[in-house]
Amino acid sequence: MTSTEDPAARAGELRRLLDYHARRYYVEDDPEIGDDEYDALYNELRDLEAAHPELTTPDSPTQRVGGQPVERLEKVRHLQPMLSLANVRSAEELRAWVARMRAHLAREGIADAQFRFVCEPKIDGLAISLLYRNGVFERGATRGDGEVGEDVTHNLRTIAQIPLVVDGAPPLLEVRGEVYMSLPDFAALNERLAAEGRSTFMNPRNTAAGTIRQLDPALAAGRPLSMLAYAIGTVEGLELTGQWEALAWLREHGFHVNSEIVALEDEEAVVAQCLEWEQRRGGLEFEIDGVVVKVSDFELQRRLGAAGRDPRWAVAWKFPPTTAKTRLLAIHWNVGKFGDLHPFAELEPVHVGGVTVKLATLHNEEDLARKDLRPGDEVIVLRAGDVIPQVVSPAPHAVENPDREPPPRPPERCPVCDTPTVKPAGSVFTNCPNTACAGRQWQLLRHFVSRGAMDIDGLGETLVGTLLNQGLVRNAADLYALGEDQLLELEGFGEISARNLIAAIDASRERPFHRVLFAIGIEEVGGVTARNLASQFRSLDRLLAATPAEIEQTPGVGPKMAEAIAAQLADPVLLELIERIRAAGLRLEEDGPPPGDGPLAELTFVLTGTLPTLTREQASERILTAGGRVTSTVSKKTDYLLAGDSPGSKLAKAERLGVAVLDEAAFLALLE
Ligand SMILES: [Zn+2]
Repeated sequence: MTSTEDPAARAGELRRLLDYHARRYYVEDDPEIGDDEYDALYNELRDLEAAHPELTTPDSPTQRVGGQPVERLEKVRHLQPMLSLANVRSAEELRAWVARMRAHLAREGIADAQFRFVCEPKIDGLAISLLYRNGVFERGATRGDGEVGEDVTHNLRTIAQIPLVVDGAPPLLEVRGEVYMSLPDFAALNERLAAEGRSTFMNPRNTAAGTIRQLDPALAAGRPLSMLAYAIGTVEGLELTGQWEALAWLREHGFHVNSEIVALEDEEAVVAQCLEWEQRRGGLEFEIDGVVVKVSDFELQRRLGAAGRDPRWAVAWKFPPTTAKTRLLAIHWNVGKFGDLHPFAELEPVHVGGVTVKLATLHNEEDLARKDLRPGDEVIVLRAGDVIPQVVSPAPHAVENPDREPPPRPPERCPVCDTPTVKPAGSVFTNCPNTACAGRQWQLLRHFVSRGAMDIDGLGETLVGTLLNQGLVRNAADLYALGEDQLLELEGFGEISARNLIAAIDASRERPFHRVLFAIGIEEVGGVTARNLASQFRSLDRLLAATPAEIEQTPGVGPKMAEAIAAQLADPVLLELIERIRAAGLRLEEDGPPPGDGPLAELTFVLTGTLPTLTREQASERILTAGGRVTSTVSKKTDYLLAGDSPGSKLAKAERLGVAVLDEAAFLALLE
């Protein structure tokens, strides 16, 4: 800002710019400027308002998160009731609804009415009403009982998809919509909470509903809520002809409107659309529990009117429920790759979300304790979309049963190998410490043959289980001793398939050392660490001989991790496996020049974003074969950040630390 500029004018301009860019980002998903640029504009406005408090307006973008907590939620009477909808559950019921409308209109003197139906996915969120006066967001309320809701303006302000100002709005405008949490946002929120050691949320709907009713808006600002507008309620000074036109108007005026919504002329097309969404519900970014079908034309809506509380011109096509009640028969425990015991529920088979469910995940023992599930309880099972079914809670009356079983405890002995279990400090898992445990071996073998590891074609987890159960293999090394004749004895194998599998196992002998190091299953050694260890030590023998202090010299490896790696490399079971895969001819040495050799000798790289021609894997490969190193986080020790499109926070950090940034062309030039 120049000193001659009028602060009020500049503040107004900044608000317009920020609103515009927020809309590009949050509503249109098509940002024009980067986060840094946005932040700069925002900070300028915030500073300007701090210097001139009289310039702060309630519709300023800075006021989204700065609101004061309220003491209680005030009751709000809606200008016109937020109606409920009658349900239909089948094609027949939908056709009957259309027939009833035709009959009603015929009695009104309208024969052969032409309908245009607007079909909207029914998001499983929280219905809200937004009131704008002269284009300024004045008040937002929950639906409540349809007549009276609660004032939650302070929380709705924090949702970036709700415009605080609407250019070109009529004097009075009420917009209705659904507040929800998208599935990716919900997953990320729970991941963050889990990482902070706090309890996680059960489902997106309750999380969104609970957040919106908080008294302190700071809470809502910290949770990723979204809003989709679906209707205009009370309005003065705006003439629209139908629902379809209203949605277009909302979209044009900065509201987030679901792009999935369609208009259809024919009732059979509506049925097909509802069935299609029912199929696709698991693949959407938000949970939907049905489809709202509305007659678009407002004049027809008026003529159809309401029957009791339900409008005649709209119905909700309800999907089959995704929750069901059933009995929890028992809790069992699975053994993971490194001995962690994972609880899961055995259920009385129940039909939910279109499939029969017999087993459901319980995540970990803290999850189990928090939900207070006991064998014999009647429980609520959730199967949302394609996710693994989970047990949500006991049924309300189950917890009052005086004859309930005691809370289940993690097993004192491993359910697979009977070794006494241990509970490491700071872990949410009880652990089977026996590294030769058959349960662990199964998981390890699945990992060994998997895509990112030895990538053995045609060896899936079922076959891994069969090989173990038939006693043909005990661990990964045994795979290399398998013969075609042994496979032929297994059900489903013919000469060709047996030969192909043996060939695939043979081919895996050529996988580079770092893949072998990843495949043998050392806790904490993921793909990137395996690469770095391989490039640091060059051979497994050198790594085996290394002290924790030496291992710690590897990029990306801290002292604790180095200790843990060294301890595992001394385990006799792992050492035996290593000797046997060595004998089987797997590669235990790194190709290419050692660090200190090659054009990128001793240089450390971090990769971010999408490169124009190379995949990240290919770029890493090039760096490593040229003698360089790859780590995952930018630090002062990083020599270069190789950045493609959408680089994210790593680029900002590199710039802050003065780390040189390369694009792909510059990187390829460096390799020359
Ligand atoms: Zn065990």
